[in-house]
Amino acid sequence: MSSFDILSLKEAALVYLDRSGGLEELCEACRVYEGQQQDEAVYTFCISINPTDVIEVDSELGDIVLHDPLKATKVFQSVCYLAIKTLELLDKIHTESQINIILKFTHLPPFPEYTLDLCAFPRANVLLKPVFVEGLVIALTRVTKYTQGARFLCMNEDCTCSSGYQNIRVHTPGATEFATVRNDFSCKVCNSQMKEDMKLRVLGDKQLVKLIPYQALDLLRGHQKASLKYQSVTLFLRDELCNSMGIGQTYKVLGIPAHVHQWPHVTWSIEANNIQPWEPECSSKVSATFLELLRNTVGSPWRFSAIAAHCFGLEIAPPGFYNSLKLCLLLSLVQTATDSKEMFHSLDILVCNNESLILDRLLTYSLSLAQRGIRHQSSTEMFASLSRDEHGAGTANIHAGSALLATGGICMLGDLGCYKKDKLEAIQTVLEGRTVSVFIPAKKYGEDVDQQLSFPLHCSFWALIDIADHSHRSNRTECAALGTADLGPIQIKLADAFGLLLQCRDVGATGLFHTTHILQQAVQSGAGLYSCTFSTQDYQELVAQARLLQVELSSGAEKIIHGYYMASRRLRTQSQGVKMSVGSIKLLISLAEAHCKLSLRTQVLEEDAVIAVLLCESSVSLKHGTSPLVLPPDAAFPCDMSDVDSLHRRDLILDQLHQDILRFIYAYAPGADSYITEE
Ligand SMILES: [Zn+2]
Repeated sequence: MSSFDILSLKEAALVYLDRSGGLEELCEACRVYEGQQQDEAVYTFCISINPTDVIEVDSELGDIVLHDPLKATKVFQSVCYLAIKTLELLDKIHTESQINIILKFTHLPPFPEYTLDLCAFPRANVLLKPVFVEGLVIALTRVTKYTQGARFLCMNEDCTCSSGYQNIRVHTPGATEFATVRNDFSCKVCNSQMKEDMKLRVLGDKQLVKLIPYQALDLLRGHQKASLKYQSVTLFLRDELCNSMGIGQTYKVLGIPAHVHQWPHVTWSIEANNIQPWEPECSSKVSATFLELLRNTVGSPWRFSAIAAHCFGLEIAPPGFYNSLKLCLLLSLVQTATDSKEMFHSLDILVCNNESLILDRLLTYSLSLAQRGIRHQSSTEMFASLSRDEHGAGTANIHAGSALLATGGICMLGDLGCYKKDKLEAIQTVLEGRTVSVFIPAKKYGEDVDQQLSFPLHCSFWALIDIADHSHRSNRTECAALGTADLGPIQIKLADAFGLLLQCRDVGATGLFHTTHILQQAVQSGAGLYSCTFSTQDYQELVAQARLLQVELSSGAEKIIHGYYMASRRLRTQSQGVKMSVGSIKLLISLAEAHCKLSLRTQVLEEDAVIAVLLCESSVSLKHGTSPLVLPPDAAFPCDMSDVDSLHRRDLILDQLHQDILRFIYAYAPGADSYITEE
């Protein structure tokens, strides 16, 4: 490239800086440096770049920015040096090499070649060109230091390089620490050894993050797709980008791929430039069949969700079975949010049963409807594990376990009977605290002091206890209060930590009924045996749409929830010595909101609160015994649901239960309204 071409590029860069406000930012940054006492080897300036705007100023410069960002950086480095010298912005800068320019891309052109699919191979063809990648953070390191820039001096005192700022080394994308600072550089003038001037070294922050393609999560749902393998990619986050990514979260990263040479290996990694939270798109329309159901059930706030639950998972369990569980699974699915800004209202479910095989299948099937669903495998870590970082820093690398991978979704733990005592205790601690703690021993990871890190947990847990397994003989049965469930090997505290406890008992002839149902399904290959005709996709779309709804609590619903909570707390503390935690009020609100969302409404009605109270009271009774609020065994589904008449009958019974709840509140929490305002 001729010197004339370079001159015109620099001119274009100056015009762009002037138009985009970059020059003003440069002046501001210089003023900040001017105020600092200490001199440094290099001074870093960030320049915001919108390639489209650059192209408008000069197409050639725009092309270089998009396809050779290192060269573009050089151009802007010269221009900034000239500006600083001409305008006398910063006396401390003596040579151009003291200027470290970081081009911050604000946008990329909206064309496919600027998006890199992490599943596509070979990736290595894309080098040093800014691209978008999308993925999920599965591991990250602690923040460590790296050398942004350093000054080297010739050890020969007579040489001109023994002072001044001729020999400055600056970190470039993809370079290792070894490339920036080491002790075997020789002087270009006299060939003597060079020595770093340690006083002037500039350090920056660095963090390594492992990203996987979002599709890889499908493998963790428990589906069998043995032929697929996914590869993670390492991102380098530097300086102000450190700590901007959370484990288990999804992001769209604008980055520059680079080869990192670390003899004898060369790894392909990405230098992050701009990081945005991102959520994979999902269909948000409700199928025509559910819309029709919505129209037909408009008269009752209970019917839509009841039929949706009744017809759910018919491939696995015949209609009429496990209706409460199916409803709770749908409520839990609806109450998930991957958006990290939103509050996560968890809805954990523990099912005690003597029919683990079918229920395990029902839970696995439901998990496939979750936006994010992880089935925990005993061979993997449940919360978090540590390893040493392999990219030179040697610091602790924290890997997400199943619960963190399930961020914003559901983590299915399976049968709790399969876990050892210490694991069950760990589950209880995590459920109670809603955080995952990681202990980093200083000695092992080159730190000065031991560290305890904690990560917030945003997922709901589903688990089973098989009480048919006679190897766990419960000691609860002898002295248990009326109405409690046999929890097998599970401590009551752990059951308490799960929000909802459900009992699914299967007796005698139903086993045969199941067999008949499954055989019929097999023979007729899923043809509609019953009048319910909602496909798995219909449910997927219903859940996806419902979880996006923003709902609002009506005052009627709030009164029932608070009143029931106050009454129940007073009563159970007095008679059973059970402390109803604040967690139960969160659970009640979460259930009522979820029922409202599942019914595709946005205002939480008293009727939603009634369902929440019925589910919650049943759960507390299974844990601690019944209360004067006497409920039928399957309170949310007190009668069969075979036809329209039975739906009407159910509405009448629920209306009656609604009155019972109100009476219960007036009897045991008179003036609950005033408590509400107090708390
Ligand atoms: Zn020299």
